[in-house]
Amino acid sequence: MKTVTMAKGDGIGPEIMEATVRIIEASGADVQFDEIKVGKKVYESGNTSGISSEAWESIRKHKVFLKAPITTPQGGGYKSLNVTMRKTLGLYANLRPCSSLHPYVRTKHSEMDVVIVRENEEDLYAGIEHQQTEDVVQCLKLITRPGSEKIIRYAFEYAKHNGRKKVTCFSKDNIMKQTDGLFHKIFDEVAAEYPEIENEHWIVDIGAAKLADTPEAFDVIVMQNLYGDILSDVAAQITGSVGMAGSSNVGESVAMFEAIHGSAPDISGKNIANPSGLLRGAILMLNHIGENKAAEKIHNAWLRTIEEGTHTPDIYKEGVSTKKVGTKEFADAVIANLGKSPEQLTAVVYNADKPFDLPKVKERPASKKELLGVDVFVDDKDKNPNNVAERLKSIESEGLKLQMITNRGVKVWPNGFDETYCTNHWRCRFLMPSEEVVDKKEIVNVLSNALANNVDVIKTENLYTFDGKKGFSLGQGQ
Ligand code: NAD
Repeated sequence: MKTVTMAKGDGIGPEIMEATVRIIEASGADVQFDEIKVGKKVYESGNTSGISSEAWESIRKHKVFLKAPITTPQGGGYKSLNVTMRKTLGLYANLRPCSSLHPYVRTKHSEMDVVIVRENEEDLYAGIEHQQTEDVVQCLKLITRPGSEKIIRYAFEYAKHNGRKKVTCFSKDNIMKQTDGLFHKIFDEVAAEYPEIENEHWIVDIGAAKLADTPEAFDVIVMQNLYGDILSDVAAQITGSVGMAGSSNVGESVAMFEAIHGSAPDISGKNIANPSGLLRGAILMLNHIGENKAAEKIHNAWLRTIEEGTHTPDIYKEGVSTKKVGTKEFADAVIANLGKSPEQLTAVVYNADKPFDLPKVKERPASKKELLGVDVFVDDKDKNPNNVAERLKSIESEGLKLQMITNRGVKVWPNGFDETYCTNHWRCRFLMPSEEVVDKKEIVNVLSNALANNVDVIKTENLYTFDGKKGFSLGQGQ
């Protein structure tokens, strides 16, 4: 029998977990639970991470974790347990199926059946932020080749094993040519390995608009962390209710399953919360541990219950619903329907094979990395780029010469426009005039000249080529 770590969480957590566990047990799934405490009480006991070392031990031992929502106390330096879990356990793939249950749950989109695959560890969520000048702060967007390859391959493997026809990639590579450009490039490379699955790419803004308007045009969508965070909520909401969606967070060794909503303290203890989101998370969990038939039985019983019009208050609608029930009674109705299939909605079929092996990152030959120059970022309160250029020219080394200055990414020297607004944050690009490979010592020389000339350097970025291809963007207007 498989043991799964389980936490009842806060707010409505215990009620919806109790309902979910009862349904799982009634389904005959070969699973037992090891309960741990996480969340509010643990935070309030003085543990700012919200999780004890014994709880970590259980999760790392059993490797599968079913978690009810928890309340993160505001202020006081408490860390979000969800973010801690994802990053500490390397749960890189966040999967969120969003399908509409028209006409039983009110939605504008009767045919929606979309799975969002969100990268869970990288992007702007690395949380590397700095104030660089009085007026300018920065957040680093980190996209890695292995991280992108893993999540994109995961999306295609998921599609392949779940009879999905198409994988779409959303990115903003028309603007972020290095970061989103890499993600899109890897998407094209990986897609070529799955000729049986259709693939397409959308710029994220118009893709998001299309998703909100015509979700039936999409099947599986893979995205970086931030786009996926926002658009998976949009996708869940337009199915009719965020209270109905579950999600999985999968890593190389551990996986965590949950509802997408929070602990809903406003309705806790009233037996009115909808347990469907957590139940959908539990269905993903049962599939993950190979209990596919139990997952199928529960999913179909749940569809049948929704179809019969037995609804919790959040989705109850006169004329469509037949019975308004509480959390417990909803669970009883699902249990009574175990073994039945929906009559109108499409029944699910889950294959009895094991979950797919997580994709491995392909080894690549090392590329040839060569140094061409450096971007020196300086804090200078002068509003005139020509004056800044004069000062920066005084720190040139023998080889490295000032080639360009940008402000907020826009070229302002040489030949800038008076209309361009300038802050006190200047990016000054030094290259050899012939753009040849340069010795790193030249950068040190530029920096020591800056020190001697009172130029306030706040950071540098080396300019490399990889196999002869420039690894840095041009200035806007360059
Ligand atoms: P929420 O999702 O808890 O609630 C938003 C609204 O949706 C509320 O009106 C609530 O009553 C309703 N709702 C949510 N789930 C429902 C359900 N199952 N049935 C019926 N109605 C439901 O969001 P919030 O109020 O912004 O956050 C409350 C707490 O939850 C916060 O402490 C937040 O940090 C935490 N949170 C936890 C998680 C998690 O553990 N994964 C996720 C999001 C928020």
